[in-house]
Amino acid sequence: MLRIGGKEVSRGQRASIEIPVGRMPTQVMVTIPVRVLHGAEDGAKLWLSAAIHGDEINGVEIIRQVLETLDPGELRGIVVAAPIVNVFGFSVHSRYLPDRRDLNRSFPGSRKGSLAARLAKILMDEVVDPCAYGIDLHTGAAGRMNLPQVRCNLEDEETRRCAEAFGAPLMMHSAGPGGSVRRVAVSRGKRVLVYEAGEVLRYNPVAIKVGVDGVLGVMMALDMIDPRPRISAVTPVPSYRQKWVRAQRGGIVHIQVELGERVVRGQPLGVIADPMGESEFPIRAPGEGYVIGVITNPLVHRGDAVLHIALVDRPATEDTEIRSQLNKPLSDANEAMQLPAEPANGSAKGGES
Ligand SMILES: [Zn+2]
Repeated sequence: MLRIGGKEVSRGQRASIEIPVGRMPTQVMVTIPVRVLHGAEDGAKLWLSAAIHGDEINGVEIIRQVLETLDPGELRGIVVAAPIVNVFGFSVHSRYLPDRRDLNRSFPGSRKGSLAARLAKILMDEVVDPCAYGIDLHTGAAGRMNLPQVRCNLEDEETRRCAEAFGAPLMMHSAGPGGSVRRVAVSRGKRVLVYEAGEVLRYNPVAIKVGVDGVLGVMMALDMIDPRPRISAVTPVPSYRQKWVRAQRGGIVHIQVELGERVVRGQPLGVIADPMGESEFPIRAPGEGYVIGVITNPLVHRGDAVLHIALVDRPATEDTEIRSQLNKPLSDANEAMQLPAEPANGSAKGGES
């Protein structure tokens, strides 16, 4: 019998569970909303989490769309979905908890610690520990935009198989920061992917499309669902090292490359200018790789991270062009976002964000 948040979920059932966290000063009870799908047949156990950083909302929409398509009667295994983990930050559009702690540096947490520690402990006990696989959904931090990418331990064969099945343009080898749910879950033997795409407080259609297809792709690879068509999946390029390009001086950045663009060592990526048009200082690529993150606020101080580059060993000619791979899901997603033709007296609807 599957038991989550004190509630039993039988085979072939979908359950809505509210896991209590504590009271607001107003005495309203705060809960983490969780959906559990217990498949009709045995299979892999997978958790999905999003908004551990409360302002990273693309993952919330990814989980919503994934849940819409799943039927526990046709599922093999178990899905435990926690689309809004940091319920406090989410409600006030903030990355952090009310005391400014970062939840994703607070795992595994504890029953008697800070609010962050308690929230982390609840997620570990009720969502992570019952599962063998996990996908944690994130976006770039405030002021940054990320190319859709998977971060995981590429040296573990099964994790790598999942990363390939996700089908994001890049898969990057890393351990994750100390105190992150990924790092702690991996230390407990779980196979975990972090998906990073888009930016905070905005729905990025491509990030969402690639994410939904990615989660379903992993579920197919784990034989949890029957094969279905996917639009955005590509063969991911592996990267074992990433580098931040930092501003050598304060100024106003003009970026001259796009997310996903292939760059070579020394290539100009943009300039840092002054507001009077009197000087321009070039920013150059630190090595061979792909642009995977870019600043969205052009005003920088000396030392600010401006671009994030995934370094790759092979020469540019051997790599498939990621940007062209992304064009297809981009145009499909754009099409899906188009407003429907407006009837003469009707009201427009359908546009998101
Ligand atoms: Zn995050």
